[in-house]
Amino acid sequence: MIKNLINGKWVESKETFQTFNPATGEVLAEVAHASDEQVAEAVQAAKDAFPAWAAMPVAKRSKIIEKLGDLIAENVEEIARLETADTGLPLYQTLNALVPRSSNNFYFFADKAKQMNGHTYPVDDQMLNYTLYQPTGVCALISPWNVPFMTGTWKTAPALALGNTVVMKQSELSPLTTDFLGRLSIEAGVPPGVFNIVHGFGATTGNAIITNDDVDAISFTGGTSTGKHIIANAGLKKFSMELGGKSPVMIFEDCDYERAMDAAVFGIFSINGERCTAGSRIFVQKGIYDKFATEFAERASKIRVGDPTDLNTQVGSLISQQHFDKVTGYIRIGMEEGATLIAGGPDKPVDELPDHLKGGHFVRPTVFRDVTNDMRIAREEIFGPVAVLIPFEDEADVVAMANDNEYGLASYLWTQDVGKVHRIAQKVDAGMMFVNSQNVRDLRTPFGGKKASGTGREGGDYSFEVFCEPKNVCISM
Ligand code: NAD
Repeated sequence: MIKNLINGKWVESKETFQTFNPATGEVLAEVAHASDEQVAEAVQAAKDAFPAWAAMPVAKRSKIIEKLGDLIAENVEEIARLETADTGLPLYQTLNALVPRSSNNFYFFADKAKQMNGHTYPVDDQMLNYTLYQPTGVCALISPWNVPFMTGTWKTAPALALGNTVVMKQSELSPLTTDFLGRLSIEAGVPPGVFNIVHGFGATTGNAIITNDDVDAISFTGGTSTGKHIIANAGLKKFSMELGGKSPVMIFEDCDYERAMDAAVFGIFSINGERCTAGSRIFVQKGIYDKFATEFAERASKIRVGDPTDLNTQVGSLISQQHFDKVTGYIRIGMEEGATLIAGGPDKPVDELPDHLKGGHFVRPTVFRDVTNDMRIAREEIFGPVAVLIPFEDEADVVAMANDNEYGLASYLWTQDVGKVHRIAQKVDAGMMFVNSQNVRDLRTPFGGKKASGTGREGGDYSFEVFCEPKNVCISM
């Protein structure tokens, strides 16, 4: 039984739900479904624990946070296997990238907390203003299922290191590694009430969290419609909203072709394509479009789909039947819209799957060419292994198409022309741009998006925006 963690104690609930292995259909665990009262208890525990945690000397608090990083590093394999079982993500990615990176979140923010500083604004010899950054208070951290451990730790580490207390709700589809994090937090010496976990569905447990007046801030990662709902219903709180994406990849004829090809393949098919920053709209300049499309489809067809625990597997099982239906539904929409299917398709690769995986939610890496920017497959977030290839003429053409979309999370640019890089970097509506580069995360930089991709940034000093309150102190001299 996966229990809630409230005020340092593991607590069952009257109601439970199950979490499944999406690749096999196996029930992995019965999970406590936190009631409204239990959410209120968790928030109260966080509120009560806040003053002492916030007042703890930063060196002592940072030691606890570092210890949490160490414990993750010591348990990478177990966490990665749990994550893969709960989400269907390929083990080679959870084991080699997503879980190891999570311990860095704790090391980074343990260090960052020690370097906290403010600003000073002297006014001649009359006045002195200085700014204190103080912890925000009780922070609700709400995560989606796609990379749950990575996202959960990305929020937990700065929130705790900067002196806040936490009520965390992981997606109901992927609670296992958050439960593991709860156990590690106790082992690391996080005091009772500082880090609380409640499990449950968005409309029940999630709703009880966001509407609680004692929650000071909500750091949310998930779908755009959920984010809008939270902002409309949570009342006066601080928000950090990391929402959906439909990120453009702009590949010019003058690019380093092989590197661009590798990155474009990885950018849409890694993490099963269930990735907020996936390069899901691939714009290719006309002179290389045909060659690129043919070779991209060949690469996609060779991707190994199957058992997520096999270290050779590159695309595992999507998270649920419902999500499988959504992704394959979009593949059918693309075919109806007149795009040309050149790899994959909506049918499950059942012939290639062993019996125990036949009920899994596997989708072949799928590629469409002859896509226009007004098609639904080019406009809407599919959140699966489906690439759309759109030809473009020139710089102005591709920038206009890249910006003609409701989302604005990441963007990717492939060209050797430095002037073009700087011009396009200024013009593209996105929170992040990666030039001649895969999505490489540097924890010091701002992560987040604009338009329907969210508000606020997290990472480095930018995490202070949600997890700290600046207080100005004005002194007359
Ligand atoms: P979702 O919005 O359905 O759920 C996310 C979380 O919110 C879950 O824990 C869910 O239980 C909770 N929730 C749902 N309704 C709620 C409510 N009314 N009140 C409070 N909590 C509620 O999203 P999902 O399907 O789990 O995740 C996929 C989405 O997440 C995609 O759109 C993807 O782009 C986005 N995402 C964004 C980023 C980013 O950094 N921008 C990263 C990963 C995923």
